[in-house]
Amino acid sequence: MKLYGVYGASGFGREVMPLLRQQVGNDLEVECVFIDDAGSGETVNSCKCISFEQFRNHPADYRAVTLAIADGGTRRKLAEKCAHAEVDTIDVRAANSIELDGSQIGEGLVMCGFSTITSNAKIGRHFHANIYSYVAHDCVIGDFVTFAPRVMCNGNVHIGDNAYIGTGAIIRQGRPDKPLTIGEGAIVGMGAVVTRDVPPGVTVIGNPAKPLIKD
Ligand code: UDP
Repeated sequence: MKLYGVYGASGFGREVMPLLRQQVGNDLEVECVFIDDAGSGETVNSCKCISFEQFRNHPADYRAVTLAIADGGTRRKLAEKCAHAEVDTIDVRAANSIELDGSQIGEGLVMCGFSTITSNAKIGRHFHANIYSYVAHDCVIGDFVTFAPRVMCNGNVHIGDNAYIGTGAIIRQGRPDKPLTIGEGAIVGMGAVVTRDVPPGVTVIGNPAKPLIKD
């Protein structure tokens, strides 16, 4: 039999589990479980929740996980743990998500309902596209990047590793010779309208988006 694990049994994990179950089908030879380092032993939405140790020692013929935790740094840590344990990852795509032509996408993708990747994007490992978000043509997106619901990322935008783009943010399109760049580890706040480059590690908010000044 095949065993698939949704790592993280909290908010996002509970949104990913039904997508995974729909993707892998209702087959007696397939089981889907949650994996959680805090909540193992429980049942969550009628699915078992087990520890990572139980998952990796399960006698299934094949095992793979999806990392269903919005925080990119946590996904990075868990991806290393899975690689070290020689546990594969599985991509999860909602049945109504859309991918057009010529994109290259790394392992561990999660595409929630109504999300879209248009054409010729290059996307790193463990990218999350939450509901209704999109990546348009020619974008280049790093590893462990997270799009919250309804992020609108227009064409020729480059986003560095571990960046987090908040709900409803709009990112202006760049040009082929001058992409709009959002640096590694940057955070774009909810509803922000990003019209110019965001430096690495900086949080921007508002319209037009400006660095958040903490007092
Ligand atoms: N978690 C885990 N191992 C880790 C970090 C987090 O199992 O190393 C679990 C944590 O116990 C929680 C879930 O992942 O159940 C993350 O939930 P949270 O609400 O923080 O994130 P979200 O579901 O909103 O992405």
